[in-house]
Parts: sequence; structure tokens; C-alpha cells
Amino acid sequence: MQIVADLHTHTIASTHAYSTLYEMVRGAKKKGLIAIGMTDHGPDMSDAPHQWHFYNMDIIPRQIEGVTVVRGIEFNIRPNGELDHMDQKCLGPVEFALASFHESCFAPATKAVHTEALEAVVKDARVNALGHPGNPRYDFDQEYIVSLCRQYGKVVEINSNSFHIRRGSAENCAQIARLCKKHQVPIVVDSDAHIESMVGDVSDAAAMLQEVDFPEELVINSSQERLDEYFRSRGLHLFD
Ligand SMILES: [Zn+2]
Ligand SMILES: [Zn+2]
Repeated sequence: MQIVADLHTHTIASTHAYSTLYEMVRGAKKKGLIAIGMTDHGPDMSDAPHQWHFYNMDIIPRQIEGVTVVRGIEFNIRPNGELDHMDQKCLGPVEFALASFHESCFAPATKAVHTEALEAVVKDARVNALGHPGNPRYDFDQEYIVSLCRQYGKVVEINSNSFHIRRGSAENCAQIARLCKKHQVPIVVDSDAHIESMVGDVSDAAAMLQEVDFPEELVINSSQERLDEYFRSRGLHLFD
């Protein structure tokens, strides 16, 4: 399986990442991608950009060097299932929002606590996708949350970076993928790149999806048509 877009990447706006937006676009172009999502961290993370970063994203060209740029955010999930507190106007330009557990913002707790938080996130209209849900430090009732994603039109991310940095993620990701297949929940396959050279590197996730015989038509970033269809269904015409 190939991806045509990487919808989860970070720039130096989050200072634990190392490349500029233009460098990340260059990385996408080198990998032959048609689109990249810039999804820097929400302000709860200590080194995340100020909320004005998101407020101003309208000035980013739709296309840079032929690569379509999607303006995004990676929200931090709070222990009560809330997201980073931000002014509504700062979220105006956001076109794709992931929401993820991060240890600096949500100390791992119990399966019930994680499940309750994710339930609130799935029901939050600002969220498009659950980011790196395969992290074994945040176990949750996978079948319940995946079926809720189906009900609320959410996408589940398979995050290839998890296979390297979050030990034990591989089996979790495979199990989540099987459940998405069973419940017909769309997924997005991303790199979570924090540097230009990693953009579009989803080989580990792709290998796992092949193993579980995951249907390509459920991967929203597996073709331009599917990507376009996903964003059009949300009122955004990326490629016109
Ligand atoms: Zn993350
Ligand atoms: Zn990330």
C-alpha cells in the first residue's frame, strides 16, 4: 500500500522538531507525495507554539512547490477528555485535527479513564482523527471506541512512528486495524515526522496493514481521489 499524503507532521514551531514548513514540503515532494498536513502540537505541550500559530495559518499557500498543504493541529487530550483550551477563532483555519494522548499532558491512568477520555474526544466536533491510538501506555476499550468512531465519522490514525518510539505498539496497532476493518472505520496512515528526512516514511505501518489484509479503500490517504473525497465531505476542496 502506498500513501499519497502524510497528514501528521511537525515543524520547528514545536521546538522538539527540526525542520521548517518549506523543508517538510520538500521532504514530501522527494517522496512523491501530493499533500502534507502540518499538525503542530496544541498549546498544552510545553514547547508547542502559541495558539496564534494556528490563528495565522490562513497565510500558508494552499500549494508550495506543487505540494498541497493542509493546515492542521495535533490536540493534546486532557485527563477529563477535554482538549487544549484555545480561543475558537484560533481554530478557524484548522482543516485537519488529530487528538492524541501525550504523557506530558495526560499521565497514563486506567483503561476506564482512557476510554472515557477517548469517548469525549470522538464526540468532539473539532476532531477529525485519533492520533497514535496504538500507544500501549494508554490502553482503552478498542472495540467500543472504534465503533464510536464509525458512529461519529472519525478517522483512526495508524502512526508509523509508533512502531519505533512506542514499545509494544505494533500488536496494538494491528489489533486496532483489524477492528477498523471489521467496523468499516476509515484510517489515515502517517509518519508523525519531526524532521524533513522522515516525511512519508510509513513502511512499518504499511507492512502491518498488509499482514492484516487491510482494505485500501478505507485508507483516506491512499489515493488522491480518496483524500479529495474525505475533505470534500467536510466542505474543503483541496485540489480545485
Ligand atoms: Zn503525538
Ligand atoms: Zn505528532
